Amino acid sequence: MRVFKFGGASVKDAEAVKNVVNVLRLYESESLLIVVSAMGKTTNALERLVKAYVEQDMAGMQTVYAEIKAFHDEIIAGLLKHKDSHAYDDIENLFIELECLLETQSEGSYDYNYDQIVSYGEIFSSRILSTFLKEADINNRWIDARNFIQTDGHYREGKVDWELTAGIIGRKLKPIVQKQKVVTQGFIGQTPDKQTSTLGREGSDYSAAIFAYGLDAEDVTIWKDVAGVMNADPKRMPEAIKIDGLNYKVAIELAYYGATVIHPKTIQPLQSKGIPLVVKSFMDPEASGTEVSVRIQEENAVPFYIFKDHQAYISVSSKDFSFIAEEHLTHIFALLSSYNIRVNVMQNSAISFSLVVNDDPRKLEALLEVLSEDYQVQMESDVQLITIRNYQSADVSSIVGDRKIWMEQRGAQVLQLVTAGA
Ligand code: ASP
Ligand code: MG
Repeated sequence: MRVFKFGGASVKDAEAVKNVVNVLRLYESESLLIVVSAMGKTTNALERLVKAYVEQDMAGMQTVYAEIKAFHDEIIAGLLKHKDSHAYDDIENLFIELECLLETQSEGSYDYNYDQIVSYGEIFSSRILSTFLKEADINNRWIDARNFIQTDGHYREGKVDWELTAGIIGRKLKPIVQKQKVVTQGFIGQTPDKQTSTLGREGSDYSAAIFAYGLDAEDVTIWKDVAGVMNADPKRMPEAIKIDGLNYKVAIELAYYGATVIHPKTIQPLQSKGIPLVVKSFMDPEASGTEVSVRIQEENAVPFYIFKDHQAYISVSSKDFSFIAEEHLTHIFALLSSYNIRVNVMQNSAISFSLVVNDDPRKLEALLEVLSEDYQVQMESDVQLITIRNYQSADVSSIVGDRKIWMEQRGAQVLQLVTAGA
């Protein structure tokens, strides 16, 4: 039993959906759970729809809804076997359902509404894929992930109830997957009150890992538009190379530092059961990709480059040049936690404490105001955080160029630099 995850790019148009069939043809005899994300950039569009809905911006709602509908209609039109087929009629009903929801007054919090609406992206895509696979004679069953992924009541970042979730998946889903291929959604779950929740943006990989954990799957394959995990983002560094294998620890570290190919939460459940994760290209399904597993023992000496843009560098020092001591740090961390600000890198010296966080002006303005009451605060916006693993073999100076360096931190393997924006 294996778990496959197809992201938004792999189902971004009719041609892409057809390509998924080509990939699946290679696995005809396998028991598969197929997890799919919303098509193309649908989640972004749905986020705009939520905003318009909550603000009761009728014109905005209509425009965005029409855009989402037309996008999916075009994909369906490209997939239809013959023009007057009714195969996709149930998807039409789902759109009516969403339209009716939009007609009602919004109730509850923004995040609650967000999850009720944004989750449609995955419902549409999984329905379309399931139908198309049937039409292509790939027998499968569509399943609602919300019956299995049980979260707490935190909308937009539902926390998984592992015991409950793994229990239901093992008892109810496993026997189904043993019999036939199953198509389900990434990203979505259900709260204890039976409302839809989501797991955070880009959460479909995480869903795949949760399902794999509950199914005790052989492995998880993430199908992507890249050859595998690369040692740098090829859009930034064309000379980036594909990595054949990584161990879980390095993968978690890379995700932590901001490598976007692996969703940070995905590795942990897989590691705890020793389930390998494979990242492969849906354009070249027979190529080997990257394997993340315990099998990969030796330390890879290839340098990894991770760039994080839109960072803010904040330096906090005492007003009277006294030392920054434990009680100050306790105070600063309490503030960071109360504003829900994650520290990406920090450093302290005798009279100052410096940190780099995501440049979120709304949160930072509030933080700076409070900090300034007790400290001298300096902030530099729009800096870049560069993390290099195995920096000894890296050409650091050509990456930094003549940009100003705000902070530098060197460990045995990892070098982090905070520089002026690129
Ligand atoms: N569709 C969701 C998103 O774009 C989940 C995912 O793609 O993983 O964030
Ligand atoms: Mg997506």
